[in-house]
Amino acid sequence: MKRAVYPGSFDPVTKGHLDIIERASAIVDELIVGVLNNNEKTPLFSVDERVKMLKDVTVHIPNVRVESFSGLSVEFVKKCDASFLVRGLRAVTDFEYELQMAQTNRSIDKDVDTLFLTTGLKYAYISSTIVKEVAFYGGDISGFVPETIVDRVYGKISQKAKGKTSEV
Ligand code: ADP
Repeated sequence: MKRAVYPGSFDPVTKGHLDIIERASAIVDELIVGVLNNNEKTPLFSVDERVKMLKDVTVHIPNVRVESFSGLSVEFVKKCDASFLVRGLRAVTDFEYELQMAQTNRSIDKDVDTLFLTTGLKYAYISSTIVKEVAFYGGDISGFVPETIVDRVYGKISQKAKGKTSEV
């Protein structure tokens, strides 16, 4: 059984992420999307909301499972009884960091290899950060995130903005 883990923040999931999930799940028997519960970052969406969004947009792919994790990706890979990490490469700017991470992970556990998938050109410029920025200024994000995610992003951003206003 070839099992792989695709870890990330997915704050929120984008069409670029979904493209990687669809392609990676066609290569392995089971793909586990690992949603990182990172205390150092302040995400827009809670980890449970991010897991829910990923479950909703991958419901059509039977061999995909979505789980949250904290700590090192390699440890999560082991816990899942998987042997690969999947990462997406958008541009050369991703490469240096991803290479360093892959080498670090392999030095921690030599049985865990990283599979890199290059993004489809039409998704190369999409990032969760850009989605949040465009949505914050009321721009159209329907080209960047799956259809069912669009209103959740606008809703969350306006909720946060209201929270801020009432704090002032
Ligand atoms: P992280 O905080 O781990 O970088 P992200 O959610 O930003 O989490 O990204 C998770 C993975 O998805 C990374 O490997 C990243 O390079 C990849 N990725 C992000 N956006 C895209 C995209 N538009 N196309 C392909 N891969 C992407």
